[in-house]
Amino acid sequence: MSAPLIGVLALQGDVREHLAALREQGAEAVPVRRPEELAAVDGLVLPGGESTTMIKLAARFGLLAPLRAAVRGGLPAYGSCAGMILLADRILDAPPDQETVGGLDVTVRRNAFGRQVDSFESEIALDGELAEAAGESLHAVFIRAPWVEDAGEGVQVLGRVVGGPADGRIVAVRQGNLVATSFHPELTGDRRVHAMFADIVRSHLADSAGAGAGGDEGGQP
Ligand code: GLN
Repeated sequence: MSAPLIGVLALQGDVREHLAALREQGAEAVPVRRPEELAAVDGLVLPGGESTTMIKLAARFGLLAPLRAAVRGGLPAYGSCAGMILLADRILDAPPDQETVGGLDVTVRRNAFGRQVDSFESEIALDGELAEAAGESLHAVFIRAPWVEDAGEGVQVLGRVVGGPADGRIVAVRQGNLVATSFHPELTGDRRVHAMFADIVRSHLADSAGAGAGGDEGGQP
């Protein structure tokens, strides 16, 4: 199969690091700023940065409605940190008018680890497919990070904080084709999250190709 084309929402934030991490997974990776660019990709990463700025820029660039439609239409999407906030259906500790793209049935609390805590690193416990991929913990970098306060029934918890005052807090989730992490795997060498997301994009592409051909996949894996 040819390389999947994965976009990184490039309005603000750590776009370059995600592009590099995706390329390491064999994906073709491109920045996305316009609706036409969004329409061309097989999957989308929403990077870390500042969610209040990103959502305003998305609206100004005419991207908010296309983003909502794409995510609701099944486009695989992965949000890290600010990107997690953008994918959440409900947000806490946000300005009252802060909109989201939504799609992920979670309540996310912004700057949840305390405003005084700018950044920290911690081991987190992994569950589900992230753990099966390679080991059960991951060294995570958090920067003014949110956490998942509450997750709906269809949401699979993939990672939790271990120890300290935030012990047990949910920091990685998956719901169908949507993945979100409070932390920034693009800033460390651990590529498990990007690898999992690239696999989700590949499976989605394979399923769509199968459906498009009336279920006949030509016998190729
Ligand atoms: N606190 C930021 C926000 O609310 C997220 C921080 C980050 O992405 N590193 O958007």
